[in-house]
Amino acid sequence: MYVSKILICTVCGEEFVFTADAQQYLAEKGFINDPKRCKSCHIKSKQLHRQNKYHNNGTPIPHITITEQQKNIDLPKE
Ligand SMILES: [Zn+2]
Repeated sequence: MYVSKILICTVCGEEFVFTADAQQYLAEKGFINDPKRCKSCHIKSKQLHRQNKYHNNGTPIPHITITEQQKNIDLPKE
């Protein structure tokens, strides 16, 4: 059985809950290490990664597209 635990985000230093459900989910996916970033920092890094990927491809992104992506990510989905 998994038990929810409190972890410290290495990016923003905030405490966040690593829930039992999330631990089980990640274990099933083969991840054995605790997450090092809170949810919002994780989303931010994914967003950054996506933007870097676009730049590496050399595809110019219209400014409005980025703005719309950020709006979507900022919306709470739970
Ligand atoms: Zn964080």
